Amino acid sequence: MKLLDPILEFHQEIQAIRRDIHAHPELCFEEFRTAELVAKKLEEWGIPIIQGLAGTGVVGVIKRGNSPKALGLRADMDALPMQEINQFSHTSQSAGKMHACGHDGHTAMLLGAARYLSQAKDFDGTVYLIFQPAEEGGGGARRMIEEGLFQQCPMDAVFGMHNWPGLAVGEFGVKTGGMMASSNEFEVTVRGKGAHAAQPQKGIDPVMIAVQIAQSWQTIISRNVNPLEPAVLSLTQIHSGSATNVIPDDAKLIGTVRTFSTEVLDLIESRMEKIARSTASAFDAEIEFEFKRNYPPLINHENETQFAIEVMRDLVGKARVDAEVEATMGAEDFAYMLQAKPGCYVFLGNGDGQHRSFGHGLGPCNLHNPSYDFNDDLLPIGASYWVRLAQAYLPCN
Ligand SMILES: [Zn+2]
Ligand SMILES: [Zn+2]
Repeated sequence: MKLLDPILEFHQEIQAIRRDIHAHPELCFEEFRTAELVAKKLEEWGIPIIQGLAGTGVVGVIKRGNSPKALGLRADMDALPMQEINQFSHTSQSAGKMHACGHDGHTAMLLGAARYLSQAKDFDGTVYLIFQPAEEGGGGARRMIEEGLFQQCPMDAVFGMHNWPGLAVGEFGVKTGGMMASSNEFEVTVRGKGAHAAQPQKGIDPVMIAVQIAQSWQTIISRNVNPLEPAVLSLTQIHSGSATNVIPDDAKLIGTVRTFSTEVLDLIESRMEKIARSTASAFDAEIEFEFKRNYPPLINHENETQFAIEVMRDLVGKARVDAEVEATMGAEDFAYMLQAKPGCYVFLGNGDGQHRSFGHGLGPCNLHNPSYDFNDDLLPIGASYWVRLAQAYLPCN
């Protein structure tokens, strides 16, 4: 591995920051202490900052030379509402809050890169260091964009990174195209007409209609979606009725849809609505159709992904970069940034959990597990990757 010497030299300092953030986790849009710590460090290293985007967002701006080229490097800062069971010295000091997704490490890795780049002169252009709030369900990335991130910080491309348990330390995983799924929820109400169960001819039975819709929906994945495209439609709840001798007024169908492409998602949503409305209409019932798109699919752009792969290969060696990593059904709000700008998101191996300090919980070191801890060995690897990426993207002529 070709890690950068200065980054190795201040490893202890960055590790102390990572453990401090781990001990003081903060939830979506409440990252006040974390954002203040980030801002303070950036200012200490002479980096101008922009504050207030999405509330607690912080952007560091490092400009060198005259090139108009710019890139963004993004880390997320928020923790999860869950109880940590680790007992080591940097365990969470806030009951019911925990850095169980490693965003403490993501923030620290970007700070490590910031510390290096604040001294570096060997690039020409602007690096935006984006510290984002509320990745865990809050859509902090979307809010930063809505509040003018890319107007205030015009950039040609944006890059993101997530630690990945199970992948060995020093290994990267990435792929072009869909790498993480979109997450979406639906709630469809069939409005019929209640009646005595012994006099069905006087009502419009929403239960029978809901069952027909549920069955017809299952043809969408099998008959409409391209078999080579992954997609899931799971109807997880059906609610209706309260008595054996009453035909109810309405029935609800609730569930989730996951896809890796917006086109497939558009297709599924429109087929679901058409089937629901036309089935209901055939039986003189009405439909209330709610389809909520949470995070979009995370789609890596081809050119930027190839670019990032070259940087990773140069850093850790070709054998340690899986350029066709298996996609995951998990979702990630960096997807919004990749909808607005070209870029690439990568997984960085967090190892198998052996790194955890004495006193860790007995559970696996998996994301969103109460025994999880970010692996500090990643700090110089992730920070070196960020620096190499910036140097390669903004070369001096
Ligand atoms: Zn997470
Ligand atoms: Zn995460």
